[in-house]
Amino acid sequence: MTTNNDVQLYIGGVWRKTSETLPVINPANENVIGTVAVASPEDLEDALTAAADGFRIWSKTSPWKRAEVLLKAAALLRGRSEEIARSITLENGKSINEARLEVIRGCEFFEWDAGECVRLYGRVIPSESSIRYIVLHEPVGTVAAFSPWNFPMSQPARKIAGAIASGCSIIMKASEETPTGVVHIARAFQDAGLPAGVLNLVFGHPAQISEFLIPREQIRMIAFTGSTAVGKHLTEIAARHMKPALMELGGHAPVIVCEDADPVAAGIASATRKYRNSGQVCTSPTRFFVHESIYDRFTKAFVGKATSIRVGAGMDSDTQMGPVANDRRIEALQALVDDAKDRGAKLLCGGGRLQGRGYFFAPTAIAELSDDARAMREEPFGPLALINPVRSIDEAIEKANSLPFGLAAYGFTRSAANVERLMSGIDAGNVSINTLEASRAETPFGGVKESGLGREGGAEGLYHYTIVKTVSHLIE
Ligand code: NAD
Repeated sequence: MTTNNDVQLYIGGVWRKTSETLPVINPANENVIGTVAVASPEDLEDALTAAADGFRIWSKTSPWKRAEVLLKAAALLRGRSEEIARSITLENGKSINEARLEVIRGCEFFEWDAGECVRLYGRVIPSESSIRYIVLHEPVGTVAAFSPWNFPMSQPARKIAGAIASGCSIIMKASEETPTGVVHIARAFQDAGLPAGVLNLVFGHPAQISEFLIPREQIRMIAFTGSTAVGKHLTEIAARHMKPALMELGGHAPVIVCEDADPVAAGIASATRKYRNSGQVCTSPTRFFVHESIYDRFTKAFVGKATSIRVGAGMDSDTQMGPVANDRRIEALQALVDDAKDRGAKLLCGGGRLQGRGYFFAPTAIAELSDDARAMREEPFGPLALINPVRSIDEAIEKANSLPFGLAAYGFTRSAANVERLMSGIDAGNVSINTLEASRAETPFGGVKESGLGREGGAEGLYHYTIVKTVSHLIE
């Protein structure tokens, strides 16, 4: 067994302690609140064997049975949501309300994929009567998956749902900084009757684990969410061994506010969404390009909302924004803010770390940045909004597309013609108009350019976890 304070590995259906551990820190007060196990090469070897055993059983299990286990696990997780949400807040810092929503979202991934797995249809290709061509989608095999710290439960849930629904086994390495969310998932699947070895959890030194697992014969696919730099590195290793890689990487989401939008409503909605999860979301709205005719009203509404946000420990019920998740983010954010100010940008609100213990960074907005400001090119991944006036929608689209990223993008307009221009003009995997929601269980999600490869969720998601097998059957 494992407890919140002492997270163990889960290999072949058994919880396992290790001699080496890493500390887990509460970002709201910087206290050590537990430890997480570090897998040795022997542990990883055992995980590979267990996952191969799990795959033999699970790939032959009917889709109806897989769906039943997924739904049972999701129901157990929903029943335990308060405990899970508390563990997320303690390790990641987000407000308890945000953590509760995350748990629901994680459950939705399991529930959606439970529905999809019974519809992973192949097809029969029309042919002469003497031969039949059949196309099958078979589970790819064992998946090595890596998820980050910003959504400790829903990020691993998405990958575990995809693998389990499609009949694969999985070795999941979630973040060592926020390990308990995925532990709850494993417990729920254990209780729901998932055969041993189908889901395995490992933690440790990320580079050692990925470099050990990806080249190994048993691993047939990798799935990663995190930074573009690490994603490229893992994709290179996968390519050397000819393995498919599902990559959900960085973004730097533009928001185009057209001349005909309601500036006050758009400003309030934008600031509300920007500071969700302390801005540590790959789809977080970040580069605002606002038509000059409504720029002042938008900015005033945005700053009014940003400065009203109650920042505090996530466990306090009236907190709206918690700390950022670690001290790396504080340093990175401060460097971006200082660079922008040095280059003449205007600080509208916030601008730095808040005093006292904990990794608290004020909700920050900067305006009128030059194109060469680092923040305009590097994903801030924190509570930092960048607001610039533009003269036309064409200028905004050109600026939106000027980076090597293309994950989420947003627009505000009341004109159908502008919707068409935004929809077709913006290079991004997900374009949202008059809403700042970019991803749900039922919609395919992923990036273009350096924001990733493949799609998670929707009807498309599960196909990444399968291979296409064409059968030609000569009947006479
Ligand atoms: P990072 O790039 O070192 O790590 C990102 C994630 O990848 C972490 O969970 C880490 O454990 C994992 N990782 C790192 N090296 C790895 C390796 N060799 N093999 C396997 N996994 C590895 O940086 P960080 O400080 O943790 O996060 C900073 C940046 O990462 C952010 O600025 C943001 O751009 C990106 N990020 C993106 C997402 C997302 O949802 N797309 C989530 C978290 C972080």
